[in-house]
Amino acid sequence: MNCFNNQQKKKPKIVFFLLAGFILFSTSFLSCEAKTLNRSELVLGTICSIRILDGASKKAMDAAFNRLEEIEAVMSANKEGTVVDTINSNSGISAVKSPEDLRYLVKKAMSIADASDGAFDPSIGTLVKLWGIGFDSENVPNAEDIKKALLLTGRKEIIVDDKNGTIFLAREGMKLDLGAIAKGYAADQVSDILSKYRVKAAVIDLGGNIKVVGKKPDKQSWKIGVQNPFDTRGSRLGLASLEGGYSVVTSGIYERHFVSDDGVDYHHIFDPKTGYPVRNGLVSVTIISKSSTDADGLATALFVLGKEKGMAMADKWAVGAIFIDQDRTLVLNEYAKKVFSLEDSSFTESDS
Ligand code: AMP
Ligand code: MG
Repeated sequence: MNCFNNQQKKKPKIVFFLLAGFILFSTSFLSCEAKTLNRSELVLGTICSIRILDGASKKAMDAAFNRLEEIEAVMSANKEGTVVDTINSNSGISAVKSPEDLRYLVKKAMSIADASDGAFDPSIGTLVKLWGIGFDSENVPNAEDIKKALLLTGRKEIIVDDKNGTIFLAREGMKLDLGAIAKGYAADQVSDILSKYRVKAAVIDLGGNIKVVGKKPDKQSWKIGVQNPFDTRGSRLGLASLEGGYSVVTSGIYERHFVSDDGVDYHHIFDPKTGYPVRNGLVSVTIISKSSTDADGLATALFVLGKEKGMAMADKWAVGAIFIDQDRTLVLNEYAKKVFSLEDSSFTESDS
């Protein structure tokens, strides 16, 4: 009887401990599994990678990539049927219904265009298409066609109408191109989505456009590589030490370029004044800023502006800027000096 009673008393205890142990094991196992997740996909015309280091969930990752695809479906100038494509094919004809995010980004691009005195110009699409750099159609157009394409560039003829929710390009043949700012905007959007899904630490890399989210699990600052413009994408010349929420974006001649039959190298960042790829001795400009949208837009704008005017604009916008010359010298503004350390001794830092 005693024995039976003992057994009766012991059994629930064993079951309880086994059950508790199992729950403990399975939750810690699951949380371990769920904490980190990596995914890479071809979106926005580039490889987009998201690495969640803490607080990962499939839902968060799915939501992030869904948003990237949504942004591409609205903002790409290189895909048929996107809203930007529809705006472009209706230039000079009619205003096109445009979602709020597109109107926001076009206005942001126009503000960078104004602040850079037109060095940055989101209405440069016709010229970009004419050169076709990075696409099967890449070529050196004749001077006459370049002139005509320049006549179809004019940021003041982009009409954003928030009351009616439309965008209109005033002259027939004009084309919008948000390629210099859309990846930055997408990185900011992904960062917001991950935070909403309680992701605690993540690295967003949209074709080299980097943004870090939250605190690194080891509580150290994030170390983000700055692209070596003479090397293949992903190879760095130094590191930026940053807290969560910062973005590092580089514009450079290494990104998309082609060598013509007569041996001249043409890259994809154009001077809207001449219609030709910018040649001012710079090989890249890196911007460090909390807003990845600003960092992307400014990296392109400052590349076109050149070192002197570009540096003044970086200080005005309170962002870090690293200018790299053909002769491997780096010029940094004060903010960039605080966070950047050069690792590659084949480059030198200079004050001007
Ligand atoms: P990014 O790599 O961010 O510097 O952007 C370069 C892309 O922006 C090019 O591939 C073009 O689509 C577009 N683009 C080129 N020149 C300009 C410019 N001066 N202003 C605005 N967008 C430009
Ligand atoms: Mg850019």
